[in-house]
This record gives sequence, structure tokens and C-alpha cells, in this order.
Amino acid sequence: MKIESRRSEIGNRKSQVGDGRAEGPGRLSPAAADESAPGLISVSCNICVSTEASLIAVQSGWRMTQCARCGLAYVNPRPDEAGLRRHYQTYRPPGTETVDDWERMMAPLFDDTVRRISRLIPPAEGGAKTRRVLDVGCAQGGFLARMAGMGWDAEGIDLSAGSVAAARARGLSVRESSLDEARFPSASFDVVTAFYVLEHVTDPAGFLREVRRVLSPRGLAVIRVPHTTPIVRLLGFLRIPNTLYDMPSHLFDFSPGVLGRMLEETGFEIMETTPQRPTVRPRLGDRWITYAGFAAATAVHAISNGRRHFPGVSTTTFARRFGGKD
Ligand SMILES: [Zn+2]
Repeated sequence: MKIESRRSEIGNRKSQVGDGRAEGPGRLSPAAADESAPGLISVSCNICVSTEASLIAVQSGWRMTQCARCGLAYVNPRPDEAGLRRHYQTYRPPGTETVDDWERMMAPLFDDTVRRISRLIPPAEGGAKTRRVLDVGCAQGGFLARMAGMGWDAEGIDLSAGSVAAARARGLSVRESSLDEARFPSASFDVVTAFYVLEHVTDPAGFLREVRRVLSPRGLAVIRVPHTTPIVRLLGFLRIPNTLYDMPSHLFDFSPGVLGRMLEETGFEIMETTPQRPTVRPRLGDRWITYAGFAAATAVHAISNGRRHFPGVSTTTFARRFGGKD
């Protein structure tokens, strides 16, 4: 449902291997680590460009590796751009069968984010310009509808034609585009949100630089990502097979520390990283796991005064654009 791509200057030196030809609609070849297979490319670390990495896990034929230098976890090799595009025509996050499932799951998180943004960015007062928000990977616009309801000028982009049509039917200003393709003028928005997007994009550092460019000075980026590596490592230790990484939909796995470093290096000042609220999963069994994980995450976050994060739980980072107008 959402993916962005942008070539990076600091990372992502790709060596194109294979002939890159399309294989068939929606099909990706999960050839375990066969870098010479058509439609696969091998990549270096998106943060430090190192190619030194260790293997964390192999799931459904895909390999999650970890940079030996900076700790970023990334899928290598991965599908090429054409393969990813096809994949996203029909993609849904695990555990959600319909877009309505996704919106129900995200509702408490959206409500909480609206409250936090209202605290961090005071509403425009008489005569001032209306505040502007962009939601990247907005799906059918659940978050945008809330912001528009609070008087914000709300805009969204998504790669799923169906989601865009659904958002427009609600009267929202949404278009089918990646962040790169949208070519927003610099300093267009006071807030840019990306819920569960960064782990899907091929160049997260480039994505964050583009978020910075379209933000106004001191504008706010809100980035929510899963963090799966600690759980995968535990299950691996217990020899329990799983596909929790959701490769190759997820191309990266960010610890709060690695994401923080990436944000700082792309021109942001971190204000807060928080588990926020649990996403309500449609299946009851999943729900208990989510609530148990969230209770643990909240406790660790509170006891450590916001400095520590329970491993393996999604977190949201609120970060201000740092520096001048470039
Ligand atoms: Zn690295």
C-alpha cells in the first residue's frame, strides 16, 4: 500500500545484477540469497555505505542482514524497483484483510498522534496561515480526516490507486504518488507524517532528506516504524520458525537508536521516541500479544524516563527539522 523510493547520495550504492526483467504480475522471486537471479539487486548499508554485514535470519527465502558498522538491519539482496511496484499493487500489512481493518487497527494511534501534534504545534491564530500536514502512505485517509477535522490543511499521497480513490471519496486531498514523484515545493508543510512507511522504502535516508526539504523551518516529522529484530533473535534462539520480518515488503528494520542516528544525520533534532498506543489487531489472539507487548513497552519507557525502549515494539519518533532553509 505504500512505498517510496529515492536514490541516496550517502548510501544505497546499488550494483544491478540479473537482467531486471519483470517476471509476472505481483510475483517476486524469493531466491535465498541468489544475487544473480533476475529481478534482484544487491545493496550496501543505507546509512554508512558499508557492505560488511552479518546474517540475522532467512525467512521465506529472503535474507535480513545487519551492517557491521552501524547496526542497520536490511534485506539483501532485494527485489528491483519494478518487482516492488508490482508487489505493492496487492499488498496489505499482515493481519489486515481489508483497508477497513487497517484503519480500525490504526485508530487509537491516529487519535494519540493528533493530540501530540496539537501540543507540539499550536493552532494558527487569527490572520496566520492555516497549518499544513502531509501524510505519506496515507491509505484511505484515516489520519488526514482527523487532521482536517481539526482545521488543518491536510494532504496525502499513496501508491495504491484503490486507497487514493477511497480517500478522495471522503473529500480528502490525496494523490497517487511517491514522495519523490510528488515534487512538493520546499517548506510546504508544518508536519509530515509517515506511519509504517520507512521500513518499505528503498532509500530511507533519501526519504528523510526529502521530508526535511518539504518541511518548513522547525517543522515536525512523525515517523512510526516496527522493530522486529529482538523478537526474531529470541525466536531464532528458541528455534521457532517465523516470518515476522515480512520480507520483502519490509526492506529494513530500525532500532530506535539506528533510526535516531539516521534522523540526526539527515537534519533532524529528536524530540521524543514513544511506543504511543497499541494498534488494535483484528484477530483476538494477536490482540492479546499486542496489549501484553504494549504494557511492557509502556512500563520500560516510564521507568527509564523515556530513555529506554522495550525491544521489538513499534515506536513513533517526533523530530523537528533542524537548521536553516536549505
Ligand atoms: Zn551501516
